[in-house]
Amino acid sequence: VQRTLVLVKPDGVARGLTGEVLRRIEAKGYRLVALELRTAPAALLEEHYAEHAGKPFYAPLVEFMGSGPLVAAVVEGDRVIEGFRSLAGTTDPTTAVPGTIRGDLGRDWGLPVAQNIVHGSDSPESAAREIGLWFPGV
Ligand code: ATP
Repeated sequence: VQRTLVLVKPDGVARGLTGEVLRRIEAKGYRLVALELRTAPAALLEEHYAEHAGKPFYAPLVEFMGSGPLVAAVVEGDRVIEGFRSLAGTTDPTTAVPGTIRGDLGRDWGLPVAQNIVHGSDSPESAAREIGLWFPGV
């Protein structure tokens, strides 16, 4: 079985969408193996988003992600990395397909940084790296 790191971003938590996101994950048949509500320190977020360092949205992204509590989870299941990204929908919530988390629940591209409710790891390598950052020991 595969594992992925899911974040319900601060916009999702502030809007009371944590339960809805977790409901969709569980309804799809995936299993929660770790779950925590926390306000992430800048150093953790900078490391998490290291691949975006230097891009115009990097600093606003780190600031937004640290602006309030988020929910971090390790989710397990066959092909869960692709499966969760399919549940989440594309990055821009305005055009994300209805039926997806971002398509159903998101709207604001929210410049300078997209407020798009969730994050999910994009590859097995990213998942291993991100799970190590957020849940050392899991
Ligand atoms: P995530 O990694 O959060 O699941 P993603 O893979 O769809 O999202 P990435 O390209 O990894 O998107 O970008 C990380 C996050 O940075 C996005 O989810 C979004 O919040 C923000 N972002 C990405 N591109 C832009 C952009 N061009 N303008 C504003 N914000 C952006």
